[in-house]
Amino acid sequence: MWHELCRQLQALEEKTQKRKLVRTESAGAWATINGTTMLNLASNNYLGLANDKRIIEAGVQAARTYGAGATASRLIVGNCPLYEEVETAVAKWKGSEAALVINSGYNANVGIISALAGRDGVVFSDKLNHASIIDGAILSRAEVKRYRHNDIDHLEELLRKTDERKRKIIVTDTVFSMDGDVAPLRALVELKKKYNAWLMIDEAHASGVYGEKGEGLAHHVGVSEHVDIHIGTFSKALGVFGAYVAGSRTLIDYLVNHMRPLIFTTALPPAVLGSIQAAVAIVQEEKERRAQLRELSAYFRNTLKELGFNIGASETHIVPIIIGDNERAVRFSEQLQASGIAAVAIRPPTVPEGSARIRFSLMATMTKQQLDWALESIVRAGRAMGVIG
Ligand SMILES: *Cc1c(COP(=O)(O)O)cnc(C)c1O
Repeated sequence: MWHELCRQLQALEEKTQKRKLVRTESAGAWATINGTTMLNLASNNYLGLANDKRIIEAGVQAARTYGAGATASRLIVGNCPLYEEVETAVAKWKGSEAALVINSGYNANVGIISALAGRDGVVFSDKLNHASIIDGAILSRAEVKRYRHNDIDHLEELLRKTDERKRKIIVTDTVFSMDGDVAPLRALVELKKKYNAWLMIDEAHASGVYGEKGEGLAHHVGVSEHVDIHIGTFSKALGVFGAYVAGSRTLIDYLVNHMRPLIFTTALPPAVLGSIQAAVAIVQEEKERRAQLRELSAYFRNTLKELGFNIGASETHIVPIIIGDNERAVRFSEQLQASGIAAVAIRPPTVPEGSARIRFSLMATMTKQQLDWALESIVRAGRAMGVIG
């Protein structure tokens, strides 16, 4: 039995797809990886809040008040008072009737899709959606129809061919995690109305980053009230952990009664809730973080493009350099790491075969000087490897 697993690991090694865990300490713009300090262009700490003193202190205080662990699931005796406070704050922030805090973004997607779709439903999912959406759709036992990435015509064709009596859920990331491009939300809203479907959006990479108060891309675009199910995480731009779903009171009550990753798991530790509460307040107020991130991202993208790199359709703070071949992508990232830049090669199955890439993500607390310094090394590595001329 172990022999077979070893063989499979070897096969991964041969395709340069074997991964391993690397010791990492990350604090703000810099990370220490295997003992070497590097500019951290690989984290999801987009607003630089993960090591914010106020957010850390709020967590410490919550642990002192309520203990280290929740002691039970939320429906038993784990529903610490901070839950209600955070959920009220999130609903207000998102402009929705109600909200629910969930243990992670992964659990949110798996739990919500499987609770809502049901065996007779149909889930329409963008081909580049996050793995947790795919897993939720599979677990729901609903029929899953995957549409070509951001292809509204393809989605409409699939909707048209679906029995109109069936429950239909369209699910999409708003900012795509490996490409840094954005979903066509206005067109999706039109389709969901035309075909009487629910629209569920995952703002994992947009919460805190887009919208006047960091509500997300749907607010930025002005379609939030037409979205039935809003999901976002506290684990990326908000710098903490956990996720939320926002929507109608009925939706939230239904999930409390049907969502297995909420019912059958221990509630979040109070420290996490305390930190989330502080982060939700800070993210709404400190608009300059969003502005700085936007400016740095545009600068980084434009410079790479001018230098001749293929950054795909990125228009956000997530910027890939698409290389293609796995081994070249890995070598590129090794060269960057050797010159003090943490940027990770992303390979299949995380991205489609033949589209291995380096994924860069920016942080509001970085400086333009730091980016210029990184860009020099990126250019050097890119020329040495023939990625650019
Ligand atoms: C990161 C991510 C998740 C998972 O969130 P976690 O809180 O890390 O579990 C879900 N959806 C998308 C689009 C993500 O990028």
